[in-house]
Amino acid sequence: MGDEDVGGMKKEQGTHICMVCGELRPEDKIAVVKKDVSEKHGVPPGTMFIDVRYCSDRNECKVGAESYSI
Ligand SMILES: [Zn+2]
Repeated sequence: MGDEDVGGMKKEQGTHICMVCGELRPEDKIAVVKKDVSEKHGVPPGTMFIDVRYCSDRNECKVGAESYSI
């Protein structure tokens, strides 16, 4: 309580890179959507998935994640 480590660089774990804007964000600001990429790889639907991480607090990243393609 009142003892937050603001600006500290200790917490290396618990961060993820947003795959839409490319920024390193804290884990609690990152959401994950599973994308079925089976069709792109020529395998039956539901076979291959990728996890797309995006900023949960940025609408443009959410939209970008939904249309994310590899
Ligand atoms: Zn982002």
